Amino acid sequence: MCARRNGQLPADMPPNIWRALETLADGNHVAAVWEQWSGDHFDLLRTHFLRDTEKRAGYVPCPLGCGCEHRIHQRANGALVGVCQCDPWNCEDFPVTPAEASLLAWNLPKFARAVSKVFDCDLRETRLPLPMTWQIGAKFSTGVPVFLTIQNERASFCQVVADLVARQRARFILLAPTGRLLDASSRELLAGARAGFFDLESNLVWLPTGKLHPKVRPGELFQPFAPDATEPAPETVFAGIFALIEKLDADESIKDPSVIRVFRLYCGQGLGAQEVATKCGCVKATVLNRLNRIRKATGQDPQELRAYSPYFNKVEEAMTEAKAAYIHRKSLVHDIEERESE
Ligand SMILES: [Zn+2]
Ligand SMILES: [Zn+2]
Repeated sequence: MCARRNGQLPADMPPNIWRALETLADGNHVAAVWEQWSGDHFDLLRTHFLRDTEKRAGYVPCPLGCGCEHRIHQRANGALVGVCQCDPWNCEDFPVTPAEASLLAWNLPKFARAVSKVFDCDLRETRLPLPMTWQIGAKFSTGVPVFLTIQNERASFCQVVADLVARQRARFILLAPTGRLLDASSRELLAGARAGFFDLESNLVWLPTGKLHPKVRPGELFQPFAPDATEPAPETVFAGIFALIEKLDADESIKDPSVIRVFRLYCGQGLGAQEVATKCGCVKATVLNRLNRIRKATGQDPQELRAYSPYFNKVEEAMTEAKAAYIHRKSLVHDIEERESE
C-alpha cells in the first residue's frame, strides 16, 4: 500500500517546469522530486532557481517506484540509506548521498526579479497580504502594476483575483505560471477590472543559458492594458541595435566574415554557429568571436536578438539607404578630428 507520495509527480502526468512551480514552489523538496516535475528543465532549474535550504529531508522517492517514499536513515557509520516503508516490505535499502537528501526550495525572489526583467518592468518587490502573490513590477510610464501569483487550486486562484480586483482601483496585469486555473469567474472578475492575465508557460521560453525570454516583445504584449502609454516600437529598437552592429564593422577593421554578416545569418536567419561558419567558409571559433562582439556591443545575447528577425529585412533596407549618409557623416567627423589634432 501507498505510504507516502508527498509531492511526487502523478504517474500519468508529463513533466512540466511551470506545473512544478505551481505544485512545489511553496515547499521544500529533494532534488529527485524537482527532477520528476521539471524533466528536461531540471539542470537549468537546479543551477538558476533552486536554492539549498541546508535542511535534510526525511524521505526520498523510490527510484524503483515501489509505491512509497523511502525514509532516510543514518547508519552507525554515518552513511545515509533510503528504507522502504511499504507494508509488506517491497524493496532493498539504497544509498542516499547528502546532496540527494538535501531539501531544495525554489528561489522565489530571484525568479520574481527574472520575470520582472524579462517583461521589461520597473522592478518592484512587494509581497502582498495574499498567499504566494507579489507585485513584481510596474509597466509603462503610467506604472501599471504587474502581479505574480503562484497557486495550485482554482479556488485559491480565484480568491487572489477577487482580492486584487477589490484592492486595485486601476487596471493591472496579473501573471501566473500556467493558465489552467483561470476559470469563468476569474475571467469575469479580471474583465470587469480591465485587468490583463498572462500565463508564463505560453509567453516565455527558457533559453539553454537559464535565462527566460519573451515570445512576444513585452511592450506589444501588454499594450492593450495601457492605451495611454507608449513604448518604442520593436522596429525602432531593432534599428538602434542594427546601427550598433554596423558600427562595429565600420570602426574596427574586421576581416571576413564581417560582424554584420554573422549577425544577419545567426540572428536574422536563425542559423546555428556551425552553419554560419560553413556558409562563410571559416571556422566556428571565428563565428563565436563575432557573436561575442555582438554580445558586448548590444549587451544582449545573440540568441535573444533572434526575436527581432521579423524586422530584419525592413530595417536593413532602411539602414542601407541611411548607411551612405552615415559613412559620409563619419568621414566628415574624421576630417574634423584630424584637423583638430594637427
Ligand atoms: Zn522502494
Ligand atoms: Zn516501498
